[in-house]
Amino acid sequence: NTFADIDLGDALNKNIQRCKYVKPTPVQRHAIPISLAGRDLMACAQTGSGKTAAFCFPIISGIMKGQPAQRPPRGAHTVCPLALILSPTRELSIQIHEEARKFSYQTGVRVVVAYGGAPINQQLRELERGVDILVATPGRLVDMLERARVSLQMIRYLALDEADRMLDMGFEPQIRKIVQQMDMPPPGMRQTMLFSATFPKEIQRLASDFLAKYIFLAV
Ligand code: AMP
Repeated sequence: NTFADIDLGDALNKNIQRCKYVKPTPVQRHAIPISLAGRDLMACAQTGSGKTAAFCFPIISGIMKGQPAQRPPRGAHTVCPLALILSPTRELSIQIHEEARKFSYQTGVRVVVAYGGAPINQQLRELERGVDILVATPGRLVDMLERARVSLQMIRYLALDEADRMLDMGFEPQIRKIVQQMDMPPPGMRQTMLFSATFPKEIQRLASDFLAKYIFLAV
């Protein structure tokens, strides 16, 4: 019933202690073991439930424990992140990036953020310095994909945060375009987590389109 009981790896466990997290929140207690077991997940989670850690911990742990990825050298024109976290707004993306950076401190896992309403060139330069986890808003990511500055062919983990809010904001076409680019072979390489506060028909459709034999979690 503490984070020490979950096998997340020493470096991540140390960062969790630094953040003064001792006991997992309900969504963390259930979502983290499901994700560590490699299953896709659709979770009902409100702001303040601890959902950021619920999707960040398995991603960081999985990248640390996984096979080193064969990626193009740093500084190459197109970067290939291993994980993508999509979020509806600039503010939420910045917040997720800040938390994910604390969790990945001294793990060798690099987190970069990209959002609209700010100059793209600075964000592209950050990406070129290397990226394992990309936190992005859908519109800005589509822009980078169209410029061929980001490739999603190496994505092993996809997290959609506040999916209902992304649909309310009209991001469904962008999200579908983004996920389409990950549906290249080999199949089964990607693990997906969908977080949403509500579950209308449109979200259920996204889940059945993007997730494979997923576990539904409502806490
Ligand atoms: P979130 O729902 O991810 O936005 O998290 C809400 C707040 O709770 C953030 O300030 C987190 O840093 C904090 N938090 C998340 N998980 C835990 C935990 N297990 N123990 C203590 N604080 C936490």
